[in-house]
Amino acid sequence: MKTLVFIQIRDDKIEENTLGILNKIKTTIKGAEIIGALLGKDLKDEWIQELGLHGVQQVVTVTSPELEVYLSATYTKVMMEIINQVNPRFVVAAGTVYGEDLIPRLAVRSNTSCAQRFVDFMVEGDNIHFHTPVRDDQAMKITQVVGDIAFATSRPGAFFVDENPSGTNPEVTSVSVTFDDADRLVKHIEIKKAERTVNLKDAKVIVAAGRGVAGKENFQIIRELADLLGGQIGATRACTDVHWVEETYEIGQTGQSVSPDLYIAAGISGAPQHMSGVKAKTLIVINTDEGAPIINYADYAIIGDMHTILPILKEKLK
Ligand SMILES: Cc1cc2nc3c(=O)[nH]c(=O)nc-3n(C[C@H](O)[C@H](O)[C@H](O)COP(=O)(O)OP(=O)(O)OC[C@H]3O[C@@H](n4cnc5c(N)ncnc54)[C@H](O)[C@@H]3O)c2cc1C
Repeated sequence: MKTLVFIQIRDDKIEENTLGILNKIKTTIKGAEIIGALLGKDLKDEWIQELGLHGVQQVVTVTSPELEVYLSATYTKVMMEIINQVNPRFVVAAGTVYGEDLIPRLAVRSNTSCAQRFVDFMVEGDNIHFHTPVRDDQAMKITQVVGDIAFATSRPGAFFVDENPSGTNPEVTSVSVTFDDADRLVKHIEIKKAERTVNLKDAKVIVAAGRGVAGKENFQIIRELADLLGGQIGATRACTDVHWVEETYEIGQTGQSVSPDLYIAAGISGAPQHMSGVKAKTLIVINTDEGAPIINYADYAIIGDMHTILPILKEKLK
């Protein structure tokens, strides 16, 4: 199955959710023909090599000063050109702000629709069934995109990156696209980075606290544990709503989606709105209530008072 993946670059690196999608495609679609669309002003050879390593057989590159930053009109035009040349069955992007903007536009231009924010997909013959959590993750919607091309975006944090990729150098094809005034109706002026931006998405270890932390001052030990483990802190909305910690640390449906190797959840009940943003390889829960829903997600659960257990853990780690 010919699969075209929109490759996203962030902070000069291939964005992790894009690598996660490549892993998912490799492991789900038997004999997948994976083509990466790499757009930008200056493209690095190391990105192309990394894509090959992660299973991309062909990279279609388009370089232009007009592609330095994502703009809907220019990127849509280029991606349509690539789609027309490559003729894929499946077009997919990580559901970042850019992926969520681009894929529906491509679908409409191709007279079809798209599946957004899937967390899984199954291939049956030539059809793809996308699984998307709905109703605060209490139910799963299964959809199929009708038409020659199935367009879709994945939910950030849904897939792990292959830690031992073993692909080889891909074939590289370059496509040239020219832009006219109609493509320049929106002009990029500048990107202003938010002050105090916390990127939890790439954190390998997160020590997160919920209402059980019982106060702003008690976040100190959460920070100390996170530092000892070389990780970041995280929080539920119950904590950010009352300003025990800045909003940027919120994890979940309205917060950040995370996929660390280790997530320690202390005093967190496990509401669907929180858990929808957590995909951890190992989840350790500390909670006084053995009936708390989060216990069902836990690899290890310590039933007890976090204010007693965390200092012990801190001493042990030291
Ligand atoms: C539209 C919408 C979007 C939302 N988005 C988000 C989101 O993105 N992220 C998010 O987190 N929430 C979100 N929420 C809120 C969510 O529904 C929950 O209310 C919230 O996650 C609960 O946070 P909590 O687990 O910290 O608190 P609680 O549900 O009150 O749980 C506290 C837990 O701490 C345990 N506890 C208490 N004392 C101790 C102690 N001393 N030691 C150990 N354990 C203790 C309790 O047993 C309990 O399990 C959203 C809600 C809505 C409606």
